[in-house]
Amino acid sequence: MAIPTREQIHAAPKVLLHDHLDGGMRPQTVIELAAEQGYEDLPTTDPVELAAWFTRGADRRNLELYLETFAHTVGVTQTAPALSRAAAEAAEDLAADGVVYAEVRFAPELHTEKGLSLDQVVQAVLAGFETGMANAAKAGNPIQIGTLVTAMRTAARSSEIAALALKHRDAGVVGFDIAGAEAGFPPTRHLDAFQLIMRENFHITIHAGEAFGLPSIHEALQYCGAERLGHGVRIVDDITFGPDGEPILGRLAAYVRDRRIPLEMCPTSNVNTGAAESLETHPIRMLKDLRFRVTVNTDNRLMSDVSMTDEFEKCCNAFNWDLADMQWLTVNAMKSSFWPFQERLDIINNIIKPGYAKLMGESA
Ligand SMILES: [Zn+2]
Repeated sequence: MAIPTREQIHAAPKVLLHDHLDGGMRPQTVIELAAEQGYEDLPTTDPVELAAWFTRGADRRNLELYLETFAHTVGVTQTAPALSRAAAEAAEDLAADGVVYAEVRFAPELHTEKGLSLDQVVQAVLAGFETGMANAAKAGNPIQIGTLVTAMRTAARSSEIAALALKHRDAGVVGFDIAGAEAGFPPTRHLDAFQLIMRENFHITIHAGEAFGLPSIHEALQYCGAERLGHGVRIVDDITFGPDGEPILGRLAAYVRDRRIPLEMCPTSNVNTGAAESLETHPIRMLKDLRFRVTVNTDNRLMSDVSMTDEFEKCCNAFNWDLADMQWLTVNAMKSSFWPFQERLDIINNIIKPGYAKLMGESA
């Protein structure tokens, strides 16, 4: 089948598992919230220039430099109304892009500078998602959002944040994550937090194998109970090729594939942070061909200047993916979500499959 058009990619139902709330704000909103709150550190108050500034600042081939740009989006989301607005707009923007299910993550500990408690931060975000989902449904683009609560791997509050995630699990929080600079901050620093989550039968995804290699992935899976890997792109370091070009999987890579561990891959972001050299050479192509459980994600829509439609368009063009490939990746993502099983199946059977069948019928 042919490479889908941008219109088809936009219309196709999409599922997003890896998206950061503070990485996906609208530039105009950042500017308005800064004005409301007397935040004076923005480099410009022109939305087009600000968007370009974020992208330029992020695209420096280094994870630590990439993360520097978040100071401003975090700086203007220190009140409950600001957090609710950011969350509502995220839900609306994703829905308008054809995303039918998304897990959006944020780190509550970064939003307490003006006195909000951790509970108030989570409540404000969950309320914002509810508003955004209601608005999206009214606009004819229904979306379901699951919330992931993230602890900063460079800090020492992960057990408290894990307990916070558990406290709000019946109000929309579906899992726990750690994020931030990876080198020097292995997942096992946060073992207590992960063990708490596991004891409570809750869900774990870990940023691992992005800026740092196989040891980080190994710890995430075999010590910390990660059910999915955020990025996981460095798993390719455990794959070699024999004389006839046949792939040889090391034990860790084989485990990841055998156990169907989902990889939350974010190609554009990986190019920005230097985790991949270019989109065209991104390992997602090979990992998909080898039938790893690959998913396509945005990571940070503002900093990397991408939407799910953009990301799929780039991949389809670079790797000759067609609608059947998109459907496979989308079903992979939905199967891998932390949403309840029956509702996952409902989304796959009632939304994703009919959506692709319609598009494939039209283009046949
Ligand atoms: Zn991320």
